[in-house]
Amino acid sequence: MKRSLRLLILIILIASIFLDTLWAQDSWKLKREKMVATQLEARGIKDQEVLRAMRKVPRERFVPEWYRSRACGDHPLPIGYGQTISQPYIVALMTELVELKERERVLEIGSGSGYQAAILAELKTEVYTIEIIKPLYERAKKILSEEGYQKVKFLHGDGYLGWKEHAPYDAIIVTCAPDHIPQPLLKQLKDNGVMVIPVGPPGAYQTLWVVKREKEKFIFHNWGEVRFVPLIRRAK
Ligand code: SAH
Repeated sequence: MKRSLRLLILIILIASIFLDTLWAQDSWKLKREKMVATQLEARGIKDQEVLRAMRKVPRERFVPEWYRSRACGDHPLPIGYGQTISQPYIVALMTELVELKERERVLEIGSGSGYQAAILAELKTEVYTIEIIKPLYERAKKILSEEGYQKVKFLHGDGYLGWKEHAPYDAIIVTCAPDHIPQPLLKQLKDNGVMVIPVGPPGAYQTLWVVKREKEKFIFHNWGEVRFVPLIRRAK
């Protein structure tokens, strides 16, 4: 009797832990669905693949523990070292603006938390990402591999210079703001490729530029004002 009682308690305990985990996962899924409906669809993001990726990638995993409860909020969040994970809308917007197709090669400047890279990987693209702050580079690499995005290629270094070895890229997404468009990035963009890049002074609003390459010609579209952390030049 005692033995079967102990067994029963053990089974109940295991079942409750299991149900608790399921419930927690379910509640994050609901939060992400709400985030997509109220912050992205409501503001005009239409690309169904982008919306699917934003529903699926567990944003809460890329946010430091102490901010986790606010992971799906309509704002950027600190990730340490003076850096931030971008607001969900900005991630979706930049991803939509580069109009990715499957198996395209994309370069991200500023891996940060790794979240934008995971969204790009979820779209079945070949992702290359560069981060200048070593501990962030290491953390992002680890989380992406734990979440099943092992194919994303990471580089610790200065993204101003791009990643020549794998160029040219169909798309380049810059998630930190330089005060001018880096020439090496323009050079590494494929013919018909698209780059999205915030340009402007640090600590103020910047202009989000969508740059399309047509052979040796670059066509610039001003998308509007945004706010990003600055692009820094010395590796830490
Ligand atoms: N895409 C990120 C947002 C990161 S914030 C995400 O999804 O979380 C911008 C990042 O750019 C920071 O991590 C910062 O360290 C990095 N950064 C700044 N200057 C850089 C440079 N020259 N090269 C590469 N990364 C840089």
